[in-house]
Amino acid sequence: MTPVLDTQTANMITRTMSATVIPRRLESIGFGPSSLLPHPVRLLYYAGLEGNARVFENVGLLDAVSVICNNDAKHSRLHKWLSHKEKRMLSIYVDIIPLKIALTQVSAKISKNAIWSRFSPLKVGFLPEPDVPGPEWVKVRVHSCGLCGSDLHLLKLDINPRSCIAAIPGMERIFLGHELFCEVVETGDAVSDVAVGDRLAYLGFFPNCKALGATPCAPCAEGNYTLCLAPDKGKLPFNRGGGFSEYMIAHRSQWVKLPAGFTEDQALLTEPIAVAVHAALKSPPRAGDRVLIIGSGTVGLNLLQVIKALEPEARVTMLARYQAQEEKALGFGAEKVIRGGDLYRAVADDTGARLFCGMMGSRMILGGYDIVHDTVGSGNTFQDALRWVRSRGSVILSGVELATPKFDFAPVWHQEIHVTGINCHGQEHAGGVSRTSFDWAIELIQQGKIDTASLISHRFPLKRIRDAVETMTHKRKEPTFKIVMDVSGGVQAEISAIG
Ligand SMILES: [Zn+2]
Ligand SMILES: [Zn+2]
Repeated sequence: MTPVLDTQTANMITRTMSATVIPRRLESIGFGPSSLLPHPVRLLYYAGLEGNARVFENVGLLDAVSVICNNDAKHSRLHKWLSHKEKRMLSIYVDIIPLKIALTQVSAKISKNAIWSRFSPLKVGFLPEPDVPGPEWVKVRVHSCGLCGSDLHLLKLDINPRSCIAAIPGMERIFLGHELFCEVVETGDAVSDVAVGDRLAYLGFFPNCKALGATPCAPCAEGNYTLCLAPDKGKLPFNRGGGFSEYMIAHRSQWVKLPAGFTEDQALLTEPIAVAVHAALKSPPRAGDRVLIIGSGTVGLNLLQVIKALEPEARVTMLARYQAQEEKALGFGAEKVIRGGDLYRAVADDTGARLFCGMMGSRMILGGYDIVHDTVGSGNTFQDALRWVRSRGSVILSGVELATPKFDFAPVWHQEIHVTGINCHGQEHAGGVSRTSFDWAIELIQQGKIDTASLISHRFPLKRIRDAVETMTHKRKEPTFKIVMDVSGGVQAEISAIG
C-alpha cells in the first residue's frame, strides 16, 4: 500500500535519499572520511551520514522510502541497505594481514603518514553497527574509552611476526580500546543479570572458550580467560566493535557489571586497576617489603596505589622519567622516586645493597629490592630488574613489549630469582579467598583507596586519535597520564567543526 505523503515529507525524503547515496558513491571511488579530503567533500560525506540517521530514527519515513525505492530500480541497492536498517559507526581497528602490515612498517620508516594512509591495515573508518548475534551477547554504546599502552603499540603497527603472540591464531581484525565507559543498549534473550542502561567494564580483549561457544578449557573454567588453551576453537563476529567504536558487542562472559553510581573516571579506570591488582597479587606485598616499580606512567602509578592500598607498610620506590610523574608518585604515597642520574648507584643507596662494577660496563647489585615490577618491559628495563632484585626476590613483568630483545638472563639462575608476568587479569587466590581481579579493583575503588579522577590528563574526540598518539608518545612536552577518547558524539563534533 502506497502511503499518502504531504509535499514537505516527500521533499525531506528526496533530500535524505540523495544525501544517503553520497557516502556510498564516495566510497565506491575510493574515498573514505579521510582527513586528507578537502572540507567540502568531507562535509558531503557527513551530510550523508546525517541523512541516514534521520531516516532510521523515523520508522514511518523508513517505510515511505522503502515504497519509493521499490518503484525505482536505480535505488534497489539502497532499498536493500535500508530494509536491513544498517547503520554505520566510526571505529578504529587493525586488520591482521601480515603482508600489508610488513609493507606499511617499511613505508613508515620513510614517512609516518604511511600508518594513517588508506593502504594501511590500521583503519579509522566507518563500519556497520553490529547487532546482538546470539542469546548470550550484549551490545553497548561506548561513551568514552581510555588509551592503553597496548593500543599505542597497535596504533604504531608495532607488531612483530617473531613474537609468540603472532604464532597464536585468534583474531583477523583487532578492535582497539578496552578501558570503557559504556552503557548497555541491548541484550540477548539468555542474558538475565544485565539490563539496558547498566554500566559495564570489559575484560575480553582476547578470545576465550565461552565467547567462542565452546566447552571451557581448564584455564577458562577457572576464570583465567586470557590463558585460554583454545583461541582457535571458533570465530568471534568479524565486526564486533571495540572501545574505540561507537557501539560494541561482546559475549556476556566478557563483561563485568559495575556498581550503580560508578562515575565515568571510576568506570574508565576499573580495567587498568584490575591489571594492577593482578600484578600486585603475583607477589603480595608484606609490611616492610622494599618494592621497586620501574615506570611511572598510569600502569606504574596504578600499581603504586594498589600496593599501598593492600599493604600501607610496604616501602615503595618509583623509577620515573618526568617531573610530573615524580610529583604524582609522591602524592600517591611513594617513599622515594629515582629520576635520572646513575640508576645502579641510586638503587644501591636506596636499598643498602652492594654495587659491583665489572668489565665492559657490566654492573651487578647484591642485595636490592624484595620485589621489582617492570611496567615498561623493554629489554633494558627487564635486564635491570633482574640485577636490582635481591636473591630469591620476585620480578614481575607487566610492561607489554612485542620486540624480541637479547639480554643477560644469568641473574635468574645465579640469584635464584622468581620471574613471572601478567596477561591483563584473571582469578586471584590471595588472603585465603578466590575472587577476580575486577572484584578486587571494584572494592578498592568503592573504598576510596584509589584516586581515579586525577589520573585523567587529556581528552580527545575519537577522530583526533592521531593527536592522542602524538601526546602519549611525547610525554615530555606536557604532564601526561591517562588519555581518554570521547567516542559517542565524535561524528557530530566533526560535523560541527567543519561547519
Ligand atoms: Zn590495557
Ligand atoms: Zn579456553
